[in-house]
Amino acid sequence: MYCDMCGSDGELFKCRIENTELNVCNICSQYGEVIHKIKAPEPETPKPVSKPLKRSEVIQIIIPNYFKIVKNKREFMGLKQKELAKKIAEKESVIHNIESGHMEPNMDLARKLEKFLNVRLVEQYEEKGKVIATEDTGPLTIGDLIKIKK
Ligand SMILES: [Zn+2]
Repeated sequence: MYCDMCGSDGELFKCRIENTELNVCNICSQYGEVIHKIKAPEPETPKPVSKPLKRSEVIQIIIPNYFKIVKNKREFMGLKQKELAKKIAEKESVIHNIESGHMEPNMDLARKLEKFLNVRLVEQYEEKGKVIATEDTGPLTIGDLIKIKK
């Protein structure tokens, strides 16, 4: 707490100075009438940190062996890369790059492939907002942070 008049730190008194109540130091209190001494403020108790919002974020990832799945399923269906490309309106080079693992399909393409080949190429992960600790569950484990949404 600081003196309202001179700004010095230390013991303060509540004083009436020119009809105004001010919290002032010992020196400044001489300019007015001391009402009472102000107790040193209690050490501030840390305010309970408001709980971070638990927001869930769904992360979609292409599964690591997407290229094998695409290749296997395409071959299983008896399609050439060119034919598959035509079916999903993509370039043959795109299919080639995907199957060789050189190009991870973007979500749109992955969805198209999933639909056409009837396979699963995208996995969804639900990532909870970065909550370090909550009152009810305690610190989160890695398992809590990343749960596979089924
Ligand atoms: Zn003062």
